[in-house]
Amino acid sequence: MSPNHADIDPYTPEMGYYECVQCGARETSTSRLHRCRSCDGSMHNISVPRE
Ligand SMILES: [Zn+2]
Repeated sequence: MSPNHADIDPYTPEMGYYECVQCGARETSTSRLHRCRSCDGSMHNISVPRE
């Protein structure tokens, strides 16, 4: 795989932040992530504002 994110706007409001519950790897995605790309663990959405 060779990801090419050249045309992804970093300020896209729908961008979600996910953290792997197994290895702690963080990924950003505009679509739902369910599996870690590194270890295939479960991804947890961490983009919910903590206020
Ligand atoms: Zn992982």
